[in-house]
Amino acid sequence: MSVPTDSKVTFGGRFARELPEMAVSWGADKAPEPRLLALNEQLATELGFEPEVLRSPEGLALLIGTSVPEGATPVAQAYSGHQFGSFNPRLGDGRALLLGEVTDVEGRLRDIHLKGSGRTPFARGGDGLAAVGPMLREYIVSEAMQALAIPTTRSLAVVATGREVRRETMLPGAVLTRVAGSHLRVGSFQYAAATGNLDLLKRLADHAISRHYPAAASAERPYLALFESVIAAQASLVAQWMLVGFIHGVMNTDNMTISGETIDYGPCAFMDVFDYSTVYSSIDHGGRYAYANQPLIAEWNLARLAEALLQLIDDDQEQGVKLAVGALEAFRPQYSSAWLAGMKAKLGLPDGVEDEVASPLANDVLALLQENHVDYTAFFRGLASAVRGDARPARDRVLDVVAFDAWAERWLALGPDADAMDRVNPVYIPRNHLVEEALEAATAGDLEPMTRLVDVVARPFDERPGLERYAAGAPDDFGAYTTYCGT
Ligand code: AMP
Ligand code: MG
Repeated sequence: MSVPTDSKVTFGGRFARELPEMAVSWGADKAPEPRLLALNEQLATELGFEPEVLRSPEGLALLIGTSVPEGATPVAQAYSGHQFGSFNPRLGDGRALLLGEVTDVEGRLRDIHLKGSGRTPFARGGDGLAAVGPMLREYIVSEAMQALAIPTTRSLAVVATGREVRRETMLPGAVLTRVAGSHLRVGSFQYAAATGNLDLLKRLADHAISRHYPAAASAERPYLALFESVIAAQASLVAQWMLVGFIHGVMNTDNMTISGETIDYGPCAFMDVFDYSTVYSSIDHGGRYAYANQPLIAEWNLARLAEALLQLIDDDQEQGVKLAVGALEAFRPQYSSAWLAGMKAKLGLPDGVEDEVASPLANDVLALLQENHVDYTAFFRGLASAVRGDARPARDRVLDVVAFDAWAERWLALGPDADAMDRVNPVYIPRNHLVEEALEAATAGDLEPMTRLVDVVARPFDERPGLERYAAGAPDDFGAYTTYCGT
């Protein structure tokens, strides 16, 4: 099948060309009956695709990799990773392919990547496939993150393959077409370092610098500057997760990008009731990736990146360690300052409120939410109303009203700005019960709830009449929520 001729998009294979040791040429499985379930028209346009062309049979073939566009050299990427703390030297794309890179309309290089495209040499025991529900889940949540202005990989399309996938039951299969600044991970560096091929490691670092942190190239120590840049990007990213109550769920080093984009929406979820110890993932028994642990885990993963980069940072190992440790010390202050800046914004605090005042104010309100089992998103959105003279939307959610009133008095005395709060506290997030409802319907063939949910979360800060049920917490009978990996 030929590729759409009127497409202005030119594919390149830069990763495959520059890092052949980490790229296994591979093809996508054929799909018996491709059917488009979701197409991100805005993103398609941003990439230079005509949405109508992507909807055609040739377009679907491109979206699932069964027709390879000119210039594209589909590869499975090799990477290693620490999974729940233990090192696996050979992970790699077991069910995914990097189709190639395209230059978007703004001149940025973007990866076009497939997930669920069939077994690769990295598949180990896996079937290489993905089910409709989890791929739509990634589509919904990643696009919600984008709308919340949080760096993330994007979802261009989900195409049902017409093939069944065996999970606990037989499920319809699908391919997600994912777009990212790159798919370079901490685990990519661990892989290159583990090969012992210093030239490969250097090429990988140069590739990452050129794509994400070009200023590092002219630093006195470019590879230390690369490390510092990743630290800064991840400190900011994880602070933003914490501020919206997002739990990634599987922060293995292979699921942490060099670019600072959120990647791999598997067992992730947004927290309803605020609780530092929240875990959704079915396999995270120890709570390693619990909500409150995320900054610590990010720092731990960055230490693994430092180990991988060590030989590049300095010829002398002792000196390399010293420099890396020094750089990593910046993570905590950077994280704390990003988090506090975000909390000040959520509380609508005017410029000039001292950290020494804002920090206990923020921590105290979170303690109040934790003790009173309060819905995190709804509380913060409702709080602006207190500035406008009606405390009820926030206050009525708190059992201990005496504690709330005392806290609110301290807060209101600082002169918060309600409109500014509305610009950062979302009304709509992809709540777990809404996501499940949408996926269940889509799996059974009804795409309407999913399409509607994507529309709602695409404008998270803009309260709209008629969408009340999307702003409300889970119904009582929804129960405890569990998420899964490798679905
Ligand atoms: P994850 O933690 O979900 O990002 O995946 C960890 C590793 O397992 C990666 O190497 C994936 O490519 C691989 N993997 C996950 N699910 C499958 C599957 N169904 N078939 C083959 N490989 C898989
Ligand atoms: Mg992964």
